Amino acid sequence: MATNPVVLFSTQGTLALPNHPALNGGCCAKCGSVFFPMQTYGCERCGSQQLEARTLSGRGKLICSARVHMSADQLRPAPFVVGSIKLDDGAVVRSVLAVEPDFKLAPGTVMITILVPETRPDRGEFDLRFTPAAKEA
Ligand SMILES: [Zn+2]
Repeated sequence: MATNPVVLFSTQGTLALPNHPALNGGCCAKCGSVFFPMQTYGCERCGSQQLEARTLSGRGKLICSARVHMSADQLRPAPFVVGSIKLDDGAVVRSVLAVEPDFKLAPGTVMITILVPETRPDRGEFDLRFTPAAKEA
């Protein structure tokens, strides 16, 4: 059964960071917790269902990264690198990183979003990656 995929990001940036794609997250109106992706089940911190969509800037700091040696997805062959990034706007996201598999990445590295061609069917034209900000400068 086909379902509409959740739109996770915008090809446009935010006012704070206009040149890098924004993430479609949310914020709890009761406690202020920021999260990604947007959901309507309830706040992970306080349980409130007063959740509002919030566009999150595509920049943050790397918490950790790991090289993936085996992939279950034939359209995303290993090796590749995944990372957890604490966004400047508060949420923690996990993403495939746009770096070579042997690229050395230190925790705390400033990471930004970029668009790459989508390789999976029925997912639109672009996919999102994080890459070191210094690499893009
Ligand atoms: Zn909350």
